[in-house]
Amino acid sequence: MLAHRLIERKRDGGRIEPGEWRALALAYAKGHIPDYQMAALLMACFLRGLDRTETAALTEAMLQSGERLELAHIGKPRLDKHSTGGVGDKVSLVLAPLVASLGVAVPMMSGRSLGHTGGTLDKLEAIPGFRTDLSLAEASAQIETLGCAMIGQSPEIAPADKKMYALRDATATVESIPLIAASIMSKKIAEDLTGLVLDMKRGSGAFIPELDRVLELADVMIKLGDDHGCPCVALVTAMDRPLGRSAGNAVEVAEAVEVLAGGGPADVVELTVALAREMLAAAGRDDVDPADALADGRAMDAWRRMISAQGGDPDASLPRPAERHVVPAPATGTLTRLDAYAVGVAAWRLGAGRARKEDPVASAAGVTWTANVGEQVRAGEPLLELHTDEPGRIPRALEALEGAIGVDTADRPLPLILERIDAP
Ligand code: URA
Repeated sequence: MLAHRLIERKRDGGRIEPGEWRALALAYAKGHIPDYQMAALLMACFLRGLDRTETAALTEAMLQSGERLELAHIGKPRLDKHSTGGVGDKVSLVLAPLVASLGVAVPMMSGRSLGHTGGTLDKLEAIPGFRTDLSLAEASAQIETLGCAMIGQSPEIAPADKKMYALRDATATVESIPLIAASIMSKKIAEDLTGLVLDMKRGSGAFIPELDRVLELADVMIKLGDDHGCPCVALVTAMDRPLGRSAGNAVEVAEAVEVLAGGGPADVVELTVALAREMLAAAGRDDVDPADALADGRAMDAWRRMISAQGGDPDASLPRPAERHVVPAPATGTLTRLDAYAVGVAAWRLGAGRARKEDPVASAAGVTWTANVGEQVRAGEPLLELHTDEPGRIPRALEALEGAIGVDTADRPLPLILERIDAP
């Protein structure tokens, strides 16, 4: 009866009290409330919204539905980064070992690809043998010895969120700011962090493209972090074009390794270093420069140790696609448009993403490009390369890219880092 009463109240514009959220999350996590009732409640929340107290109570309820990492005994600051997701965003792969190599603990919990956006776990699993399903005890032991672990949402962390997020994905209720903020922050707070850096993407390839909604989400997340003693700082960054030179799984791991080796595309390096600086500043380590740790091999050493500890072989060859298809530049001039959403959809259609949560992804699938916006291209020379194991997927990927490329038009790319937002 609890669920029916709350659905009715929310449907009619009422509020749900903290104790009710707690009972609801626990009952749902235990399977005592059916999906059809939770789906109706989530739709009522989506349409009616949640106020600040309700959002905080939902976050707390989802957090309390499970366990937390316990890392305080490590005696180091504990920082993570959360990105709202994008196309070609391989920054997490570099950032965790980089910041860990500078003495800060990084318990990084990531997600899988969703629609046109990539997922850090799918990328990491392109590395033969790499395990993302560490138990909380394994993750905690590894963070203590190596400084970082990159894992998925284990069954013990916020199980109510895990079920609700899957249900939201199937019922068109993902894009609600309070529901997103509570979902993300319940998991981040469960990591026992001393601080969190948010990379809030905006632009066509972002999960939420519009700047005003991105700022609203950042504000809610920062306040939730504050409530739980986890100070947050947010950078709003461009996702009108994809990041780096690749979108997919194995192709993004290869690019992350280039950055860890001191090279790689300038935009990936710029964003990684900016986010690392924020994490280090929050940890009280403004005295160290993350660019040095990329240049002198410390970050690479930390990456290799982490890959080996999680069952992977840092020297293994990455999966290669059965088929490649080149798209030439349509004209000579400055590349003024490479639409992030279109590139993400193309990579998805080539097999890098999944249509349903339970589908596998193809590690070798994806898109690479030889130039990003602001760079020179020549008519007829290769601009994009499509990678897939199933050639039959290429025509639909090409369809996604129609109108995605602009050369020498009036469009001007946004700067990479648009804004920095701190707690008030
Ligand atoms: N990522 C999450 O973990 N939850 C959401 O609701 C949206 C994105």
